[in-house]
Amino acid sequence: MKSNKEKVQPEKETTEALLAEGRVLRPLPQLVVDANLNPNDYEDAVKQGRSDLEAFWGEAAHELNWFKQWDKVLDRSDAPFFNWFVGGKTNIAYNALDRHVKTHRKNKVAIIFESESGARERMTYYDLYRAANKFANVLKSLGVKKGDRVAIYLPNIPEIAVVMLGCAKIGAIHSVVYGGFSALALREQINHAEARLVVTVDGFHRNGKVIKLKEAVDEAMTASPTVEAVVVVQRAGVEIDMSDGRYLWFHDLMDGEPAEFETEEMDANDPLYILYTSGTTGKPKGVVHSHGGYMVGLNRTLKWVFDIKETDIFWCAVDPGWVTGHSYTIYGPLIVGTTTVMYEGYPLFPGPDRMWQIIEKYGVNILYTTPTTIRMLMRFGSQYPKKHDLSTLRLLGTVGEPINPKAWVWYYENIGNQNCPVMDTWWQTETGMFMVAPTPCNVLKPGSAFKAFPGVHVDVVDANGEPVEPGKGGHVVVKEPWPAMLTTLYKDSEKYKEIYWSKFPGMYLAGDIATKDTDGYFWFQGRSDDVLKIAGHRIGTVEVESALIIHKHVAEAACIGVPDKIRGEVAKIFVILKEDVEEDEDSLVNELKAHVRKVLGSAVVIRGIDFVEKLPKTRSGKIMRRVLKARELGLKEGDLSTLED
Ligand code: ATP
Ligand code: MG
Repeated sequence: MKSNKEKVQPEKETTEALLAEGRVLRPLPQLVVDANLNPNDYEDAVKQGRSDLEAFWGEAAHELNWFKQWDKVLDRSDAPFFNWFVGGKTNIAYNALDRHVKTHRKNKVAIIFESESGARERMTYYDLYRAANKFANVLKSLGVKKGDRVAIYLPNIPEIAVVMLGCAKIGAIHSVVYGGFSALALREQINHAEARLVVTVDGFHRNGKVIKLKEAVDEAMTASPTVEAVVVVQRAGVEIDMSDGRYLWFHDLMDGEPAEFETEEMDANDPLYILYTSGTTGKPKGVVHSHGGYMVGLNRTLKWVFDIKETDIFWCAVDPGWVTGHSYTIYGPLIVGTTTVMYEGYPLFPGPDRMWQIIEKYGVNILYTTPTTIRMLMRFGSQYPKKHDLSTLRLLGTVGEPINPKAWVWYYENIGNQNCPVMDTWWQTETGMFMVAPTPCNVLKPGSAFKAFPGVHVDVVDANGEPVEPGKGGHVVVKEPWPAMLTTLYKDSEKYKEIYWSKFPGMYLAGDIATKDTDGYFWFQGRSDDVLKIAGHRIGTVEVESALIIHKHVAEAACIGVPDKIRGEVAKIFVILKEDVEEDEDSLVNELKAHVRKVLGSAVVIRGIDFVEKLPKTRSGKIMRRVLKARELGLKEGDLSTLED
């Protein structure tokens, strides 16, 4: 038998090698032996998830702490408002902190924080527990009550965890606004949530500069009538104006409070937070998640997909302002009792090897990041990871966009040294947890996110809601409720019903297009709004983009559909070239067109290829094809609040 290493071949210019079907990565024996879920258990879990959904998730819920056990696992009577663990009383913060400090984990490191300047801080579970208790007391002293909204406008620093957990402890609903958002976006979100309190920071470091976050808050405060107080964390030590009576220092407030707090007993379905989607396809939607089902989903998915061990150092390298940060930098890792890494700064500061340096420094075992980050780091080449000892890594992961097979293989070979399978996880702000994702005991195909997680019923259906045949594109839907699902859209339950539940009765509509292959593997092709239909053929944006980035001169690519009289639609392409390309543009255009034809066949008709310096992206790093399209067609650009710059 061939060894695993031979199955995934080294980077080659031949596209066939990369995209050919049958390129699989078998589970690595050393990982399977130690896996939390062995291959037989995996099969059993899939079966139980199909035959008895409630038993499956009920068992999962028993791994956590409940003040009062639920009466019913799932109540469908108010569908599409599903109630999980009805009658159960719990608190996610109790499960993330309080229960651990009664065990051997009391003095275990909960958070490793690295500042951009390279300073490290460590917080044990007990430190974090005490800090969250103090902050819960601060909230109480400021008059914040259960159900009140607290807006959090903080960067990736440990205080964001303290504040989120403090809110959860008291039952206040947090609404984290990503630190990269403008004053205007911040104000809109504060006002929409009618927040009573804002928590922010004087400033933080990013790419060698101090970002004075508090200044944006000052601007937002000119028209945020519901805000009674602004709590300011001191981080950068920059001079700021605290003269407005509403401004209070975080450290002063914390100093005055006791470190004990009796965590509020919440109903399983009480809201935990509001979080806005990335705004890739339109105006961001205010998604609401609850305490009970959400924590059950996180605990199970993290333990199985990333196979967390007691000694692991887990690094989810995304901002806590996105759902990935909520679920898998903060809540998930703390619930499972692992050590989570937080890095304040820019991944390329001071050089392209910063991430590899952090992995070496802390002995990171699991790295979870985005395709955009991987593509960016790929551009700098493999000499940077080579400079560092990455041998502690055991598993890799990605989220946020479809991962191009070429990027997958690069990640697997250069970061994982062919020893770490890449867990591609498909999920959404709305789903709260991984929905389509492998475990270390599954056979992987580069570019596919594998199959639905056990107990999760994701499928691909045609326009009539019928399952599609293998290889045919269709709408991604979820056919059964899942525990970490959104409970509604904030203050807009009608929109919740309309966006997610009106197209196919009884099915959740994700808004993505995918195919399933003959082995049942999912291949996400892009957003339903973006996917091209050229002369009747459905072509995913990602297929075209993945074909392009195999070409030796292409660093990044984005594909959109533009109207065409004969074919309905044709492709328009935007390419960022690698730095040292000297060929003239006309011959390069012809070369790239021929290259795409060679990889994908003649079905992809290309109208034009533009060479650009940058692509419009969301602040979470996703390509905003709708912006390219609007510009191309001379249409209104729509909501740009989440555009990077
Ligand atoms: P909006 O809903 O405002 O347009 P968004 O969908 O980008 O923004 P998120 O909830 O952050 O907001 O992202 C979820 C989406 O990201 C998914 O619907 C999917 O399109 C894409 N996505 C996430 N993970 C993957 C993955 N592993 N493979 C393919 N696509 C992914
Ligand atoms: Mg979305």
